[in-house]
Amino acid sequence: MNILFLGAPGCGKGTQSKILIEKYGIPQISTGDLLREEMGSESDLGKKLKNIMAKGEFVDDELVLSLVSKKIESIECKSGFILDGFPRNLSQAKSLDILLNEMSKSIDHVLFIDVPDEVLIERCTGRLLCDTCDYIGNKDRGENVGDPCPVAKGTLYQREDDKEETVRNRLEVFKDQTQPIIEFYEEKGTLTKLIGGNDPKLLAGKISKIINI
Ligand code: ADP
Repeated sequence: MNILFLGAPGCGKGTQSKILIEKYGIPQISTGDLLREEMGSESDLGKKLKNIMAKGEFVDDELVLSLVSKKIESIECKSGFILDGFPRNLSQAKSLDILLNEMSKSIDHVLFIDVPDEVLIERCTGRLLCDTCDYIGNKDRGENVGDPCPVAKGTLYQREDDKEETVRNRLEVFKDQTQPIIEFYEEKGTLTKLIGGNDPKLLAGKISKIINI
């Protein structure tokens, strides 16, 4: 089962991917996470990535593709994978098609989560991540940067690119670059549009019905 999540920053792709991992054990390939891992190193590449990502701009197609193909070819993705954050433009979508074709694989379901802009901005600017686990905090719940994580031993922080100005830029980039992919997959007949709300469990239930496993 190969699944692809599409949607603007903050739409809930990451949350739904994590629910699917827990429910069905399908591994997730998140290019954002892979790039943040790379960014954490003190290498020249790490510094370059930090600069690009802090502005909400896209990282070079070739670099992202090489990270993704390594993962898809790995043994852990043999029986399926969830793609989150890739492809992000038409050129990446076409490269992915070629890569999967060569491996006699294909995407079974493209799930597009649609959420209004204002909700996306509120979610991104309000969210706090934990530096050691998957916990997602929220400023609206009274949590703050530097607070201890309520789940594990970590500390809460704000993603560099979750500042309002950068979030607005990421939304513009999404509309400009990623929106055309929606049509690409609509034409292939694999796309399902879902309306994202405030209840991740409800959305997860709908997704389970669609993928039918
Ligand atoms: P979000 O979807 O919430 O914007 P991600 O964690 O998926 O966050 O991505 C964070 C950043 O990583 C992006 O703003 C971009 O700079 C970079 N990035 C992630 N995936 C890709 C990709 N497929 N192509 C180019 N850049 C990417």
